[in-house]
Amino acid sequence: MDRIWQALPEARLVGGCVRDLLCGRDVHDLDLASPVPPGEAQRRLEEVGARVIPTGLEHGTITAVIDHHPYEVTTLRRDVSTDGRHAVVAWTDDWEEDAQRRDFTINAMSLDQDGQLHDYFGGLDDLRAGKVRFVGQAARRIEEDALRCLRFFRFFARYGRGEPDGEACQAIIRLRETMTRLSVERVAMELLKILSGPQLLRTLELMEETGTLAVLLPHHAPLSGLERLLACGDPAEPLHRLAVLYPPGGGDGQGMADVGAHLKLSNESRDMLAAFARYGPELAVTLDDDDIRRVLFQQDRSILLLRSWLVQAQELGRPDGSWNELRHRLETVEQPVFPLAGRDLIALGVKPGPEMGRWLKQTQHWWLTQGCRPDAGACRDWVSHQLSPS
Ligand code: ATP
Ligand code: MG
Repeated sequence: MDRIWQALPEARLVGGCVRDLLCGRDVHDLDLASPVPPGEAQRRLEEVGARVIPTGLEHGTITAVIDHHPYEVTTLRRDVSTDGRHAVVAWTDDWEEDAQRRDFTINAMSLDQDGQLHDYFGGLDDLRAGKVRFVGQAARRIEEDALRCLRFFRFFARYGRGEPDGEACQAIIRLRETMTRLSVERVAMELLKILSGPQLLRTLELMEETGTLAVLLPHHAPLSGLERLLACGDPAEPLHRLAVLYPPGGGDGQGMADVGAHLKLSNESRDMLAAFARYGPELAVTLDDDDIRRVLFQQDRSILLLRSWLVQAQELGRPDGSWNELRHRLETVEQPVFPLAGRDLIALGVKPGPEMGRWLKQTQHWWLTQGCRPDAGACRDWVSHQLSPS
């Protein structure tokens, strides 16, 4: 950080890191702004030994890497025009003009190298009061960029307390349909952040009241399932929370898989959602260790654990401790590994090729029916017996 101040003494920390520093949260990204144009900033930062990557030059953003740590440095900007999705910007040396472009008062503060806070719109008071308030007129700010509706809920889920800002809610109700013009990827990113917020339930209720939840997550289940999940101490995993909004109906995982595809989530996330749904019925408390090994062999342990939270939430009200016991077993049963390989079969006289594939599959099937307990020797014996039953 010292070298940044040395190169750009006029720079200030801006945005989320100032907000999080003020409320004592962990700060992961240090973002800076300065009135110095990007080319000049790059030159000065390189002079103090930083490696500079022009990450978003057209927006005035460069990334300075110092001691393997990246710092985003942006030139102060003002909006020239916007079409609701993209803004055309010009450089400025006016800090307040740059702060005016930012979405909420709590995100519009800056902190200079002397530790002086610059708070143009009452962000600190709002942060203390748990108020998420737009900079300027809520409706105008949403018309400029519809993503700000979602960002409102994201920050409300994290910092909100008490009644939400009335002007913001009215504007969101009036303009919620403009969110449908946003790219699915941006919506999904914000949604996952909303879903990891500590005030999730209140936020989703608010999204329901303002009609935004129906726009973003059509056909979701009532929020009562999520309420139960939160009540049983959920692990704050956004995908898990999303899954509760789409409980397995038909049992084929279709509902959740559809949501994953609709939000263009990564394949990994989609698989996880599909598995949540698929392993609903199997996760009965009556599963014995053989069953658990079988399911573990085919699915990731984390999916099973999360799924057990989910079922537990749905079953809450029968507090007989059996879910805790199941969870303990899910955590402790060892991940099974199929012990037989092609070379074992060759030693038994099976020819490499399709025939070997068939034998491996059949043996694995038998091994699964045995609760994944047979070791390599037992599997070989079983194959020998099948090859010459006498
Ligand atoms: P997080 O800790 O979740 O990353 P953040 O405040 O850093 O929170 P970012 O999305 O990283 O959020 O944005 C950084 C800053 O840029 C914000 O604090 C805000 O000042 C500004 N900003 C980002 N997106 C917008 C937007 N759509 N409209 C206006 N200002 C924005
Ligand atoms: Mg950030």
